[in-house]
Amino acid sequence: MENCIFCKIINKEIPANIIYEDDTVLAFLDISPIKCGHTLIIPKKHYKDLDEINEETLNHIMKISKILKKRIEEKLNPSGLQLVQNNGDLQEVKHYHLHLIPNYDKDVNLSIDEVFNLLK
Ligand code: 5GP
Ligand code: ZN
Repeated sequence: MENCIFCKIINKEIPANIIYEDDTVLAFLDISPIKCGHTLIIPKKHYKDLDEINEETLNHIMKISKILKKRIEEKLNPSGLQLVQNNGDLQEVKHYHLHLIPNYDKDVNLSIDEVFNLLK
């Protein structure tokens, strides 16, 4: 999809801190993380939102979310972790993406590079 920032990341036209990739999905660190380790999982095919994406791809994304949740917990020791997926006017980037947002019971201030080195 032309002019889609996430399609450009998939096509490696713009850089991202990619922590997981397979034939169906890509996962990378959010450029302006709400918390350290804030990760986005996206399908490689352009689906706009929850209405457009098919169940098979959705199931795969959920499977990968379990793997990456474990990895984030092992490396960053969060006290909790939220899964968020925005639609409609809540959605800024119109390419389906699942946010994994860790929470911490103490201050954790790592740079994106430091987080990337831990999670890649
Ligand atoms: P939304 O509000 O659409 O659910 O969230 C979009 C997310 O994408 C935001 O958290 C935003 O920081 C992130 N984002 C937007 N542009 C880029 C980008 O070019 N690279 C990365 N890594 N994240 C991006
Ligand atoms: Zn796209």
